[in-house]
Amino acid sequence: MAFFLDHEEEQGAPLVDPARRRVLRLGLAALPFLSASLLLPSALWAAPVIPQKGKAASAPVPDNKPRPPRLLMLDPGHGGHDPGAIGLSGTYEKDITLDIARRMAAAFAGEPSIKVQLTRERDVFLPLSERVEIGCAARADLFLSIHADSAPNHGARGLSVYTLSEKASDQFASQLADKENHADVAGGLNVPVDDKEVAAILFDLAARHTRNTAQRVKVGFIKGMGRRWELLEQPMRSANFAVLRSPEVPSMLVETGFLSNKKDEALLSKPLQRQKIATLMAKELAFLLKSPLFG
Ligand SMILES: [Zn+2]
Repeated sequence: MAFFLDHEEEQGAPLVDPARRRVLRLGLAALPFLSASLLLPSALWAAPVIPQKGKAASAPVPDNKPRPPRLLMLDPGHGGHDPGAIGLSGTYEKDITLDIARRMAAAFAGEPSIKVQLTRERDVFLPLSERVEIGCAARADLFLSIHADSAPNHGARGLSVYTLSEKASDQFASQLADKENHADVAGGLNVPVDDKEVAAILFDLAARHTRNTAQRVKVGFIKGMGRRWELLEQPMRSANFAVLRSPEVPSMLVETGFLSNKKDEALLSKPLQRQKIATLMAKELAFLLKSPLFG
């Protein structure tokens, strides 16, 4: 407990460094579109109807244009000198997350309608703001940060998914976000605390649509995964994770399991099981990315 309280000031840390300012600018530039789209019923912005001369305004225009491929950004948590959680048997979270991300990317190889990129392809440290910016710059349709953390309760096990919320779903979610947000500090980046007002405006306006999409994807993803993989009790969670703060890209964080739990660590240490969870997650995301949630 003391560990988490030490980093309480990280909760809600604003976007301030140059990379984060770029993210802010992107978000603010998107405001006119977002505020307009928020006024429309979801059915309309999901399938826009454009009136044409000589045609009844209500007649939908058939859209025969081939869809551009969807882009899924996978973000293997931690890396380099930040090992993430270390399991009871010495498993490093950073290795598990990178391996699962690589296996997921490979699982999409036969899926031309979805492209996959990784924020890191090697064992390197990447600041949280840079991970967010990579997703924004690539104009990803969905950002998935992959983790396998630890919990004070060693009995806790199973998969869970987090989306961004200023208010955490419970105390553990809040502590986990504090711990994850601390990665930048652990990596030598000192993020000053200011710009709270700007961050709050961005959070409330520009990101609302993005967060709604992420929320829906989370529900579908958990429903699908629950059929084939052990879930944490109350697997749909939310907290203020810095890596989920993109105003433009719907973002989720998946805890594939807990390295503080013997069974989960044993599972995630086996290549066959990592292949299984990677294939299952890829399958669910492929289904969701091709659904009307993404237009
Ligand atoms: Zn982690």
